Amino acid sequence: MNILERYHAMDYAPAPESRNEADAWLAARDFSKSLFIGGEWKAPAGGKTFDTNDPATGKLLAKVSDAGDADVDASVGAAAKALPKWSASSGYTRAKVLYAIGRAMQRHQRLFAVLESIDNGKPIRESRDIDVPLAIRHFIHHAGWAQSLDKEFPGHKPVGVVGQIIPWNFPLLMLAWKIAPALAAGCTVVLKPAEFTPLTAILFAEICERAGVPKGVVNILPGGPDAGAAIVNHPGVQKIAFTGSSEVGKIIRKATAGSGKKISLELGGKSAFIVFEDADLDSAVEGLVDGIWFNQGQVCCAGSRLLVQEGVAEAFIAKVKTRMARLRLGSPLDKNTDIGPLVDRTQLDRVRGLVAQGASQGAECWQPDCALPSTGFFHLPTLATGVAPANILAQEEVFGPVLAAMTFRTTEEAVELANNTRYGLAASVWSENINLALHAAPQLKAGVVWINGTNMFDAACGFGGYRESGFGREGGREGMHEYLMAKLPLGAPIKPAAEAKVAERADGESLGIDRTAKLFIGGKQVRPDGNYSLAVADRKGKLAGEVGLGNRKDIRDAVSAARGAKAWGEATGYNRSQVLYFLAENLSGRADEFAARLVQLTGASAKAAREEVELSIERLFSFAGMADKFEGRVHAPPARAVTLAVHEPVGVIGIVAADDAPLLGLISLIAPALAMGNTVVAVPSQKYPLLAADLYQVIEYSDVPAGAINIVTGKTAELAGVLARHDDVDGLWIVADSDVCKSAEAESIGNLKRVWTSNGRSVDWTSDLVGGEAFLRRAVEVKNVWVPYGD
Ligand code: NAD
Repeated sequence: MNILERYHAMDYAPAPESRNEADAWLAARDFSKSLFIGGEWKAPAGGKTFDTNDPATGKLLAKVSDAGDADVDASVGAAAKALPKWSASSGYTRAKVLYAIGRAMQRHQRLFAVLESIDNGKPIRESRDIDVPLAIRHFIHHAGWAQSLDKEFPGHKPVGVVGQIIPWNFPLLMLAWKIAPALAAGCTVVLKPAEFTPLTAILFAEICERAGVPKGVVNILPGGPDAGAAIVNHPGVQKIAFTGSSEVGKIIRKATAGSGKKISLELGGKSAFIVFEDADLDSAVEGLVDGIWFNQGQVCCAGSRLLVQEGVAEAFIAKVKTRMARLRLGSPLDKNTDIGPLVDRTQLDRVRGLVAQGASQGAECWQPDCALPSTGFFHLPTLATGVAPANILAQEEVFGPVLAAMTFRTTEEAVELANNTRYGLAASVWSENINLALHAAPQLKAGVVWINGTNMFDAACGFGGYRESGFGREGGREGMHEYLMAKLPLGAPIKPAAEAKVAERADGESLGIDRTAKLFIGGKQVRPDGNYSLAVADRKGKLAGEVGLGNRKDIRDAVSAARGAKAWGEATGYNRSQVLYFLAENLSGRADEFAARLVQLTGASAKAAREEVELSIERLFSFAGMADKFEGRVHAPPARAVTLAVHEPVGVIGIVAADDAPLLGLISLIAPALAMGNTVVAVPSQKYPLLAADLYQVIEYSDVPAGAINIVTGKTAELAGVLARHDDVDGLWIVADSDVCKSAEAESIGNLKRVWTSNGRSVDWTSDLVGGEAFLRRAVEVKNVWVPYGD
């Protein structure tokens, strides 16, 4: 072929990256001892190994040590031993270690990139230009958090020993997302890489040795699901940070219920890529290539659902097909490769199976006409059109290079389709009209929204999901909180609520005019569905009154009223603060009555009762004041963008209060939830529900919109269980005995609601600590909206 012919053909010449250094590293390493425990390289106690293979060729790369229970135990022991010194070391000391890790990784950047590509199959352009530099950035960024910890997070301390479990799709990057904030916070870690991709984690352990990470601070345990489960269940671990599938996330939520372990779950997604008709279509096509074919689509936040506005759908799909035909499949080490192999044969089979199922459900699956390499787990980029919203390709996470396309007419329809998923990880919005894009972004139920962009990540910006995409954030200030604990004033264990023993009143001893307290649902006092009531005893054990005995149906009605009270979440912080101030004002007007009721029911002294009422009013005042102040931030990633970290309400929050300080405890939970725009279904103390019933009128007189506060009196354990199992409840805060707390956590997995419990302990509601940010933070989801900005 002469030069002219070459010019016309414009063909790519192979541009292979050398793998010599990686092969030399593989050959030199003793993989029979590839567990990094307490700063030493160990063989697994059980002597087992597993194979890690090159997905482009199927060839064995290494036989890696497979950690078992004894190894997990040894690692947790090593991490616990290293914890006191590490957590007590100065922020500057930890910052220097994090910086040294980042710098050492920089010196071996290419080796990391090549190893990542041969172990995972991702194109070298991605591992070289994205995964590895971003992983380094995480360590260097978090050096700053380590040093400024005391100033930026006063009153917080490290959670302790952290178990971290990561998937195979971004082996090194996920490791960095986990280890960097943990070390910055002063935690020590046991990290388990995924069984398909252990190599860069092993190289990272070598870097830790060189960078002067003290022994036991970082422990790396290659292994499979059993090792993961052993970490999750180990009593010496105080927190689990997990990234992986929603199925395993749910198993972990259930397994840790009642253990008091803090958990963060970064799970799957089915993210929408929304193209409005005024978008720059060519840019959107390039964005889409990144959105769904980056890392072969094995990306939790892949834009796997294309929603394109009808007017431009045909033109856009045509452009997408043209572009797809130019995607180059091939060796991950070739710098021209766009799409490498999937990670493993099992993953390839799964993707093929889902595509076949999608087609059988009516989707038209199109693939470009290009040859597949002769070896490796390659799958052609696939475009499914004519996809009905219920099609498996529109609902299930495929985790492969498969795009499901749908059309929409109006913005409302786009938002509805985008939110029609159990996940809520990310979304991309494409429009040249910034007003339209910023109108859509807040309506999307997703933890990350990219405007005219996609798959942008940074160490300074939080990443994480809504709904079944998990909870917790990684990156930035919000990510640091996952590894820190604010002190909460927890007290004695709570006894299970018992049915009140009510003695008969003496002859002629009157209750006054009989008042039957009902339930408070949708802004109205309503009779309980079952038409039963619960007798309430006064401090002497005599009948003080009766309240409605709420049941499952009442909770369902209350949740639906709370869900319907959308206006509350959409109101401005100022509006909400006015209503909370008004509640305080009206409670203050009836302070004497509430104090008398406390004395009558609980036997508190007049002074203590008065103090509880005053503190309740103060707390309403304080959260009223914060309603327009606990606001988000603007992050400045190193990109032509700013990231708006917006605080959005969690949604419908179930609240279960206990007997201690029955008025103050209830108000201390309801007020922060309301302040941040959530609506509430509250179950007051089983023993003293009349105090909550007395609040109905205060609520009615305070301009609280119907449905924003709902109160269902009844039996704590039963109603807490109904709230926990209800899939339309987004958050649950429970102060109750340990069995109720444990079952609520275990039963919350249906929709992975955000659960906080006092873990069977009472709370000192008089402490200032509960009036501060602790509950405000629980009352919000942080949504990171990436907005193009600057030159
Ligand atoms: P997976 O859940 O099967 O495995 C993830 C990790 O968990 C692996 O290390 C595995 O060994 C371990 N594991 C498996 N069973 C376990 C158990 N019972 N107890 C403890 N650990 C266990 O997921 P995967 O197939 O490796 O990864 C793909 C999934 O990860 C996708 O769903 C993807 O969306 C998700 N992901 C999410 C994010 C995010 O940030 N949200 C990022 C990357 C990947």
